[in-house]
Amino acid sequence: MRIAVLKERREGENRVAATPDTVKGLVKSGAAIAVEKGAGAGAHFPDSAYEAAGATVGTKAQVLKGADAVFCVRRPDDETLSRLPSGAVLAGLLEPHGDAAFARACAAAGVNALALEFTPRITRAQSIDALSSQSNLAGYRAVVEAAQLYGRAFPMMMTAAGTIAAARCFVMGAGVAGLQAIATARRLGAIVTATDVRPAAKEQVASLGAKFVAVEDEEFKAAETAGGYAKEMSEQYRVKQAELVAQHLAKQDIVITTALIPGRPAPKLITGEMISGMKPGSVIIDIAAANGGNTALTRPDEIVEEGGVRIAGFTNLPGRLAADASQLLAKNLVNLLPLLRGEDGEAHVHWDDEIIKGMALTRDGQVVHPSFGS
Ligand code: NAD
Repeated sequence: MRIAVLKERREGENRVAATPDTVKGLVKSGAAIAVEKGAGAGAHFPDSAYEAAGATVGTKAQVLKGADAVFCVRRPDDETLSRLPSGAVLAGLLEPHGDAAFARACAAAGVNALALEFTPRITRAQSIDALSSQSNLAGYRAVVEAAQLYGRAFPMMMTAAGTIAAARCFVMGAGVAGLQAIATARRLGAIVTATDVRPAAKEQVASLGAKFVAVEDEEFKAAETAGGYAKEMSEQYRVKQAELVAQHLAKQDIVITTALIPGRPAPKLITGEMISGMKPGSVIIDIAAANGGNTALTRPDEIVEEGGVRIAGFTNLPGRLAADASQLLAKNLVNLLPLLRGEDGEAHVHWDDEIIKGMALTRDGQVVHPSFGS
């Protein structure tokens, strides 16, 4: 089986879908790996390291020739998509939600597109779940970015010259990214509180030593889907939550927002008015910036300042830890491989497997994902 690894073309995308480590394992398992020249440069994996691991390194046209599977971090551009061999699998973070045009383009190219975002949340698929592997790093990096922007220290410090109070950090959305943000802020010495609309989050927040802050009514008690994701909350709940959040925000120094609803714009949790009630010098890192943001003032990839409060909308926090993020994403793809080949080691997609069924956007020239109504 031949696997091609593309160089990412999106501006600022430093991750890569295979590392010299994963290449070594793939080659050992009998696969032939072709890596596009310079693919690992942004994550400090030189071409020579891929060659030493057993890959061939070449131009885009060379690596795509005869590929059975193409691994990428982000979806390829139109030109690259049109050059993928017909019948090949394309696997990566394809940003599939609601984008029927992209799914149709994959079908027209004859590519069998598998979107990592649609990995089912079942135990067996955990090692393939790239949203989790990347969100975890995003949560960590968000706190590091906050610490850098914040003009004060995180921990309480008792010195001969006086005492510095610990920073107060509020994490909104306690999923994978939020829990890592809580843990990281705690490690740095902040006093951490967190909120979420899923009742299961309460215990997880407490287990990390943070205090849970939420309106815990009947709607809250029922607010989790079978897939473990949040439901969109009613207008009535949002009003009650907003009141609580406004009072709490006024006392915070650092706010990390991570709230997402799959396939929907990110919920707006922080209004401009709430931001004007915050302390000058406080910092908001909006991890949901790529999905529209959790605050009214978030601008993608900008740091907006309003009344002394800075709101940072980094849209690719995992990409700011490119080597680690690549390593985890590449491992997610390695773990997918048994579902892409047969016992003889040759290309053979396990179309009947529920993980593949969940992830498949297209098959044999047709759009097959149920979210596109076919
Ligand atoms: P996500 O990235 O979709 O959303 C981030 C968080 O925002 C979630 O916790 C969500 O509940 C929260 N949120 C949404 N609307 C909100 C609002 N209005 N106010 C406050 N918070 C809001 O979620 P995620 O991090 O990918 O994961 C969600 C859950 O799924 C977590 O409990 C996670 O541990 C679990 N999970 C399970 C598996 C598995 O295989 N079983 C894999 C990964 C994650």
